[in-house]
Amino acid sequence: MTASAASVDREADRLTELDSAIGDADHGSNMRRGFTAVAKALEEEPPATPGAVLMAAGRQLVSTVGGASGPLYGTLLRRAGKALGDAERVTVDELRAGLRAGVDAVGQLGGSAPGDKTMLDALDPAVEALAASLDAASAAADEGALATVPMRARKGRASYLGERSVGHQDPGATSSALLFAALAEAAK
Ligand code: ADP
Ligand code: MG
Repeated sequence: MTASAASVDREADRLTELDSAIGDADHGSNMRRGFTAVAKALEEEPPATPGAVLMAAGRQLVSTVGGASGPLYGTLLRRAGKALGDAERVTVDELRAGLRAGVDAVGQLGGSAPGDKTMLDALDPAVEALAASLDAASAAADEGALATVPMRARKGRASYLGERSVGHQDPGATSSALLFAALAEAAK
């Protein structure tokens, strides 16, 4: 989460630039606000288990991010954290099962599926590739984000643009790729 916060802070301008093309130019500032709050909360009150870390981070995102991405990422982390329970250590397989539950919950909350040009286009393949390794998951998230460029958005603000959403990379898929890259790096 700390590595994610640092990465989001570094890349916030790029995320906002992507959101200015097919959204309302706030994804970088939304993510920065949310993850700054996450890093602060975890530092002030370090949770005892990985599951509690994810749940605390998810709560911060829900309460600090006004945009659609706040409740969606918040749901992802809270649901994944809940699935990890109170285990003190988790294997990559357990993390994958938790994130699978989290990604499914994002799809339910957003009424969205892979192919709609959203964060799910990075999250879903990343969780699948986590069966191989954290690096494979990060690479799959990057590919998934890139694959949103030719898609026409069917969910979120970008969907209001219809055909004009084609040719731009989805901001949320891009931030999802940053989060998986941070996860892979942090585990090294
Ligand atoms: P907002 O759209 O409210 O301004 P953000 O700009 O922070 O919020 O986040 C936009 C991102 O949220 C999009 O790029 C997309 O990836 C994701 N998103 C929006 N709506 C949905 C949805 N229904 N399901 C999944 N992801 C979504
Ligand atoms: Mg936006």
